[in-house]
Parts: sequence; C-alpha cells; structure tokens
Amino acid sequence: MLLKFRMTQEELFKKLIAHCKEYGYIFPSSEIYDGLGAVYDYGQNGVELKNNIKRYWWEAMVKLHENIVGIDSAIFMHPKIWEASGHVGAFNDPLIDNKDSKKRYRADVLIEEYIAKLEEKVEKEVAKGKKKFGDTFDETQFRSTNPNVLRNVEKIEEVRNKMKIALNSGDLNRLRDIIIDCEIACPISGTRNWTEVRQFNLMFSTQMGSVSNDTNLIYLRPETAQGIFVNFLNVQKTGRMKIPFGIAQIGKAFRNEIVARQFIFRMREFEQMEMQFFVRPGEEMKWYEYWKNIRMEWHRSLGFGNDKYRFHDHDKLAHYANAAADVEFNFPFGFKEVEGIHSRTDFDLGNHQKFSGKKIQYFDPDTNESFVPYVVETSIGVDRTVLLVLSAAYAEETVAKDNGETDERVVLRIPPILAPVKFAVLPLVKKDGLPEKAKEIMNTLKFEYKGQYDEKDTIGRRYRRQDAIGTPFCITVDNRTLEDDTVTIRYRDTMAQERVPVTSLSQVLDKLINMKYALQDLELKTNKYK
Ligand code: ATP
Repeated sequence: MLLKFRMTQEELFKKLIAHCKEYGYIFPSSEIYDGLGAVYDYGQNGVELKNNIKRYWWEAMVKLHENIVGIDSAIFMHPKIWEASGHVGAFNDPLIDNKDSKKRYRADVLIEEYIAKLEEKVEKEVAKGKKKFGDTFDETQFRSTNPNVLRNVEKIEEVRNKMKIALNSGDLNRLRDIIIDCEIACPISGTRNWTEVRQFNLMFSTQMGSVSNDTNLIYLRPETAQGIFVNFLNVQKTGRMKIPFGIAQIGKAFRNEIVARQFIFRMREFEQMEMQFFVRPGEEMKWYEYWKNIRMEWHRSLGFGNDKYRFHDHDKLAHYANAAADVEFNFPFGFKEVEGIHSRTDFDLGNHQKFSGKKIQYFDPDTNESFVPYVVETSIGVDRTVLLVLSAAYAEETVAKDNGETDERVVLRIPPILAPVKFAVLPLVKKDGLPEKAKEIMNTLKFEYKGQYDEKDTIGRRYRRQDAIGTPFCITVDNRTLEDDTVTIRYRDTMAQERVPVTSLSQVLDKLINMKYALQDLELKTNKYK
C-alpha cells in the first residue's frame, strides 16, 4: 500500500473539508440559505464520531476516577455569574480593522502570524544549510552562528516579549505599535492603513422574559466551567465528596469569535468537555502536573503518534490562573491548541462567594478547618477533537488489486473505538440466499454495535464506501457461509481478510471495538502517575 502522493497540508485540509461533507460528517449550517459564519451541523456519521469521543472522555474521567462525578447544568445562568467570573469585564479579544479592505483581525493573531513567518524563514535557512553541507552539517553550530538565523531569532524574541508585555498590561496602543513597527500588512488589501486596537467582548447576549430591558439581559455561556462552580456545594454535599474530587461536564458553549476560520477549529457555537478538580490550597501545582500527564496519556491512547502532540505554556495567563498549558496537536495548519490545563486558584469559588453573599467553603473533617478550595481544570473542545481525529485519520492510497492492477482509495483510519460505523455486513451477491443470511447476521450484531447492511454495487465499491467513512471491519457473506457458517472479516487498515465462524463474530469484534479494553490500557498507562 502506498500513500498516493505527497499533498501540501493546505490541499489536505481542503480535501478533508470536502470529504466531511460528501460522507455525512459535517455540513455548513443553514446551507440552503448560504450558510452562517463559523456554525456547522454534524451529519449521520459526524454525530456518531462526536458521541463516541464524548463517551471515551466521560468514561476516562467519571468511570476511571471514583472521585470524579458528572453534572449537566443549564446554558442560561444568572447574569451575575458572568460578572463574578470576570467574563463581563475581561473576556475580550483585541481587534483591529484595516481601513482599506474593511477586514477585522485579532491584533495578537496578526502578530503571531508575523512571528510564524519569521520562524519559517529560520527553518528554510537551516534546510538550505543542510542541503549545502550534507553529512558534515552541524545543526546546533549552524543555528548559533549563521547571521540570518541569529537576526531572525532575535527579532522573534523581541516581538514576542513586546506582545507579552502589551497583552499582560492590557495596553492596546502598545499592541498597535508592534503592528506598525513590524510593518504588518493586511493579507487582503496589502496596506498598513490600520485603525486603533479596541477590545471586543466575546459573549453573546439575549433577553429573558417578555420585557426587554437591561435587567433581563442574559448571556449564552462562553464556557461550561461556571455551571460547575455554582453547583460546587450541591454536588459536594449531596455526593458527600471529600477533597480532592472533581466534577465533569460536557455541553455547548458560545463565543462571538472575531476571526472564525479553519472549519470546525474555531466556531461560534461549540461543545466543551470540562473537569474542575477541587484541591487543598498549596497542593494545586502537584495536581496541575498530574492532570497534564493524565490528559496527555488520553490523547496518546488514540494512537496517532506521540510526536503529533506537545505542551505549550501560556504566554499570557488568564485573569484567574497561576499556571496554564495547552495540549497542542499538529493539525494540517500547524501545532494548535486542542485542550487547556489551567490552575485556576480559588478565583472562581472565591468570587462567587463574594458576589452571591453565600458561603462557599469546604469543611475538612481531617483538620477541622474550612477553606475555599483551589481548582485545577482540564478543558477540551469536542469539535476540535473531532477535527483532530479526522485530520489524523484521512489518507489517500494506491492499493494493489488481486489481478495485479492498482486502485485508489480514500480511507479514514479512525480508531475503531471511535469509528461511527463499527462494521458492515455485505452479501457477496444479491441472490442465492446470501442477503437473507447477511441480514440475519446484521440483526444479531446490531444489539451490540452500530453497523450497516449494504448489498448495492460490486463488493469492491462497497469496500471503498466503507473505507471512506472509516468502518474498521467488513463482514462478507458468500456461498461458503451457507455451507459451513463462516464469513470473511476484512480489516480496513491492512485490507487483510480472515475467515471466521459466524458464531465467534461477536467475540472477535468485541475485542477490537469495545471501549472497555481501551480504558483498561489507559488505566495501566496512567497508574504510574498516581
Ligand atoms: P483559543 O486560544 O484557540 O481561542 P482558548 O484558549 O480561548 O482557545 P479555552 O477558553 O481554554 O480556549 O477553551 C478550552 C477549549 O475549548 C479549547 O482548548 C478548545 O478546544 C475549545 N474551544 C475554545 N474556543 C473554541 C471555538 N471557538 N471553537 C471550537 N472550540 C473551541
């Protein structure tokens, strides 16, 4: 099996988006009305993949940890919550407009893109050196002596530092100065005719009740975490939870993103899987490291390769955090955040105590003391994980046929535990009692896993259709099945075929698809951190 050809990452991304639509994964929202910016719908396969991802996360959190429980809080919440959390005052992005193209950008993103271009220049210079000097090339020495590399690295550090200072002090003029000094131009108009930088609040608001005035103003939640904080006492008391313990939640969040590009990477309506872990003050750094490790193991367990992930410490800490790191994945458009691990101190519970006037404390029976717990959170986007899985799974291949010719196939190598359709039952031909036998098999297996029955077109075309949606196993029923009650299982990734008795099908599939085994593996890998 050969990879068909080397696509650029941009080509790959475009093809992936088209593939997602063609095979019922993801559709633009309101498409017949020309769509709605950065809002997407999940189709018949997308919803299954999404549900499986949510289940794998939920079970890894809530089932594998006895001290983690789940909740499902409402999207609408009391508006004071967003004052207490700091979102009304500080959930802003700095935006800047180009006066000629009338396009709006996030000022920090423009600067980040400028830095990325300088980094690209450095890597090109290194690649040139490698080519020129061949085997004798000493990369470390080259990086520390080549004047072009040194100049660019110095510039990167200078710009990054300036941006960090501007963001941390909230100094919008300084941010604009960087854009002007670096001569950053608008990608559309090519000019440097910029407006001032302004703050833009990302929360969507609406009115509750029939009278519209300011007192009825409520927000669509921009994160699920606050629903957990305001239920801290409810869960702790009714569940008799002892610190350290966690509360997990999966749900929709809404952000009026300024730069909403890159498909489902940045949406205005999306879903989060968040877990807030409540600990004793002073122990938060230990738990922060613990959760970084545990979450990285979860990502690695999907089997896309450890080198596809890295940690990135935040340049600018959010108003609530004393430590924060992102898990980044190498998407077709580079390493980008898929999950955040944040040490949120007692900021949220402390502020809810202040704003609500209700005591929110934990009484520790071991020490006879009451305190406001500290929090370490893990926060991952469901949609970004869907994109991660799909972009890592998509492959175009040239494959050999039995007659010596070659064929092309697009295959989604989705981990079997996450695949939307687990198996397909295919009668070799549509006669001789094969469809009846195939349906009988389908009707037995359907109670365990989501499958598809397909009798249309040649067997080769049916295999390709299943490859394209990522079905890990095809079960083919042929004349021999009627004689000895055996079928062939064809494996998606290797295309190898194996003859097995119909009576053992359920067992064979279970080993490969049942999430239980993946969770057992994960537990073994994470035990060392406990
Ligand atoms: P970014 O820097 O990319 O805007 P963020 O740091 O604001 O993300 P968090 O507030 O930490 O994101 O949210 C936690 C997770 O929620 C992110 O890691 C991401 O997976 C997901 N997420 C956040 N914003 C969006 C969005 N607009 N669309 C899809 N997923 C999102």
